[in-house]
Amino acid sequence: MAGPRETQAPPDAAPVLDYEAIVIGAGMSGMYQLHRLRELGMRVRVFEAGTGIGGTWYWNRYPGARFDSESYSYGYSFSKELLEEWNWSEHFAGQPETLRYLNHVADKFDLRRDIQFRSRVAAATYQEDTRSWTVTLQDDSRFRARFLITAIGPLSAPTLPRIEGVDTFQGQSFHTARWPHEPVDFTGKRVAVIGTGATGVQTIQTIAKSVGRLSVFQRTPNWCAPLHNGKIDAETQKKIKSGYPEMFRRCQETFACFLHTPDPRGAFEVSDEEREAFYEKLYAERGFGIWQGNFRDILIDRKANATISDFVARKIRQRVKDPEIAEKLIPRNHGFGTRRLPLETFYYEAYNQDNVELVDITETPIQRITPKGIKTSTAEYEFDIIIYATGFDAITGSFNKIDFRGVDGVKLKEKWKHGPQTYLGVMVDGFPNMMMLMGPHTALGNIPRSIEYNVDWVTGLIGYARESSLTRVEATAMGVTAWTDHVKALGVGLLSNEVDSWMTGINSNVEGKQTRIVARYSGSAPAYRAKCDEVAANRYRELALG
Ligand code: NAP
Repeated sequence: MAGPRETQAPPDAAPVLDYEAIVIGAGMSGMYQLHRLRELGMRVRVFEAGTGIGGTWYWNRYPGARFDSESYSYGYSFSKELLEEWNWSEHFAGQPETLRYLNHVADKFDLRRDIQFRSRVAAATYQEDTRSWTVTLQDDSRFRARFLITAIGPLSAPTLPRIEGVDTFQGQSFHTARWPHEPVDFTGKRVAVIGTGATGVQTIQTIAKSVGRLSVFQRTPNWCAPLHNGKIDAETQKKIKSGYPEMFRRCQETFACFLHTPDPRGAFEVSDEEREAFYEKLYAERGFGIWQGNFRDILIDRKANATISDFVARKIRQRVKDPEIAEKLIPRNHGFGTRRLPLETFYYEAYNQDNVELVDITETPIQRITPKGIKTSTAEYEFDIIIYATGFDAITGSFNKIDFRGVDGVKLKEKWKHGPQTYLGVMVDGFPNMMMLMGPHTALGNIPRSIEYNVDWVTGLIGYARESSLTRVEATAMGVTAWTDHVKALGVGLLSNEVDSWMTGINSNVEGKQTRIVARYSGSAPAYRAKCDEVAANRYRELALG
């Protein structure tokens, strides 16, 4: 690893910078950003904390981790050759395959030579005199660049539960997002899983088959729907390849860049029989259709939402043999789809197995983790392995872990004390030359589709700055207020904004994250792109340029 460098500019000369741009993170967004900036002929360095590329798909190696957007709609779309040569083996690829794919991309575009691994960024400070950013790594080495691009992901700061004794357990314990690279043997083991979000669901349904005994500690049940994964045969592979242009065009048109988009009908604009038949059809189809392709009003109208919630509750009751357990698995405090929907493969059937038990910790709260296992209000359990599927300090958590300081040393964490404030989700006033990929207030949806747009837009802005000899691009305070207000207004009336989840900024394990905020852009992706395109077409006049 390179050591600290002296890069002080001689007086009255252009500053000597190590790089033109520094990108933090070598996940899907950092990788593509590196590729695009290189195309502009820029000297770029990516700092990555891990030992390899892949971000989310590098860290989340837990058993059963896989896409729940269709593989082919999730890969990069920017290279025809890449699309042509890569064969996804399943409709929803598992983590090992996805990581292989991303490594293939890194090889193909020779990305690794500009990525410095094992390099966690500790701080980034804007220097007005040189209009540049100084990035400090955890080992204290420092690098300067004109542009700083964060590619640190909305779900990359894992959080352990705030339960007494977490450090005292003497068996093996893992957070799902810090899973070891070596295989973990579950055969015959007594295993606990805490957490039943999308990660917990995938883990539980996968390890239930091989563990000796599995105890699931559930605080809040989530609505889940079947994934319906399957292998891709040769003929389908051909169709996928020839259909790529049409498929990506469709992803550009849909609300959240998925293959699915809301049905134009309201839930009560059809007869009861038609509604039931529609729900049956959606429940039998692959992927997010039941969430993203459902009636247009299920996520905004309580009564409409109740119809699909009732339908899925009936499915749970049919699939889980023990009626008491079935009732415990049915969410009571939120409607279907108002939290991020976990997609499952025989998740509910796992609870029919003799070796799987559900511990409802709202009834019998966990009191502490002990050296031998978990103590609840009524029992002491002994385990060989505890798995924490307890989620992330989402959206702003990865930002809070880095000491970002803008003009006059203002801390980003301080500026966002009451929730993020951004311009298009990409920039912040007082933080010139810093751009965020998949930052707060951007359109997330089918993430790679949003990443490609986000990266292309940032590349366009940086390209424009270079062509126009601009050395300082900054969001205005007015622009930030307008965008933040717009994002908040879009969230009004959404049932998801009335529910505690990572999407509303809640994390019971993080100090100060107990109040709901609007951290996500919830308008349509086409509307988001239209706004960003307009800003670019107007030569970024909404920004302060210098
Ligand atoms: P999550 O949705 O935030 O779920 C965390 C779980 O841990 C919840 O069940 C939560 O319960 C529980 N929990 C947290 N702290 C606890 C405590 N102290 N005691 C007991 N239970 C506790 O996190 P996640 O499952 O990792 O998923 C996060 C997001 O990652 C997903 O929504 C999705 O966007 C993404 N993801 C995607 C995929 C995919 O694409 N295939 C797979 C996995 C995850 P409460 O609900 O009561 O807080």
